Amino acid sequence: MKKITIVGAGFSAAVLSALLNQHDLTIVDKGRGPGGRSSARRVDGVGVFDHGLQYVHPKHNEFQLFLDEHLSSHIHNWQGYFYEDGKQIEEDKIRYVGNTGNNDFVKHLLAKNTSYQKELASLKQNSSGWDLSFKDGSETSAHNVILTIPLEQCRVLLEPLKLAIQLEGGMQPIFSVMLALNTSSGIKGSGHIIHNNSIIGWCANESSKRRENNNSNLELWSIQSTIEYAKNNYKHYREKKEAMLQEMIKAFTDHFQLEQLDVHYQNIHGWLYAYNEQPKTEKYIWLPEIGLGICGDWMAGPKAENSWQSASLLAKAIMKDVT
Ligand SMILES: Cc1cc2nc3c(=O)[nH]c(=O)nc-3n(C[C@H](O)[C@H](O)[C@H](O)COP(=O)(O)OP(=O)(O)OC[C@H]3O[C@@H](n4cnc5c(N)ncnc54)[C@H](O)[C@@H]3O)c2cc1C
Repeated sequence: MKKITIVGAGFSAAVLSALLNQHDLTIVDKGRGPGGRSSARRVDGVGVFDHGLQYVHPKHNEFQLFLDEHLSSHIHNWQGYFYEDGKQIEEDKIRYVGNTGNNDFVKHLLAKNTSYQKELASLKQNSSGWDLSFKDGSETSAHNVILTIPLEQCRVLLEPLKLAIQLEGGMQPIFSVMLALNTSSGIKGSGHIIHNNSIIGWCANESSKRRENNNSNLELWSIQSTIEYAKNNYKHYREKKEAMLQEMIKAFTDHFQLEQLDVHYQNIHGWLYAYNEQPKTEKYIWLPEIGLGICGDWMAGPKAENSWQSASLLAKAIMKDVT
């Protein structure tokens, strides 16, 4: 059986793992655990924050079937009241969240042979496939390599290979604040889309996601910046992290006209490559003659469903060629 190494352990890799489970799969990720942008931040004594992926709303019936078949016992519908600029949204929309955190969408599906803190530094073709070199100095080889990593990170690895593929466009940053309050804020509803604010664009009451691992004496929020705010600030993220955290909490407090907050825990996470709103390339790339595949949400859209779309098309193509 030919070896396939998947680079990245996020939603796309989870879909590939489920669909290519008859193949000899190895997964490597530079992060410390499963999920990528579908990660969950677990804080002792506080609970869990979905500081990336917020919820999954399936649009295609095939995606709903995939979730039913592979994840039904790990996810549930996040029921609640949702608002857009203060007005309650009247709709009957499914919003799936993980039972213990949103990396539940990923961690239950990933192939067993998954290693973390393994950052691929370079790829080189050999006579039967690929040599992979990692930042920690280790090396391995594979017949086939699949990149599921964000666009900009793909470019860095692919540029030296001088392949005839065009990866157009770019991904936008986002910052996420994780906030736990000792007393109820009094804010109505589970999620708020906010258009009329230059700093914050989405706030989710994490305590409303019905998770046993949340401290029920606290009220947990995840607060996302606008893309514009992140674009204007990401270059100074490391030096200005604390100031940005306070600026986003102030924007939250002002927006909901709250009194002084009784903060138990606060933190911020910067996603440099969060979204690609306007994909321009094909939905996946598969080059069977050299055993190289590329997939990811950014090839098909900005959502987790686009990761599924891209990865499942690639998996079908691979199943035809790789035995
Ligand atoms: C703040 C935020 C909120 C979001 N909210 C929603 C939402 O509500 N609904 C929705 O549907 N989608 C949402 N999304 C988008 C969703 O999270 C993504 O579409 C999906 O998680 C992408 O999965 P992926 O596997 O394609 O990529 P990723 O999750 O980015 O996985 C790629 C993996 O590759 C790893 N990697 C990168 N470079 C290397 C390297 N050189 N070597 C080894 N590993 C490497 C990374 O560590 C990462 O784990 C959100 C995203 C963000 C950032």
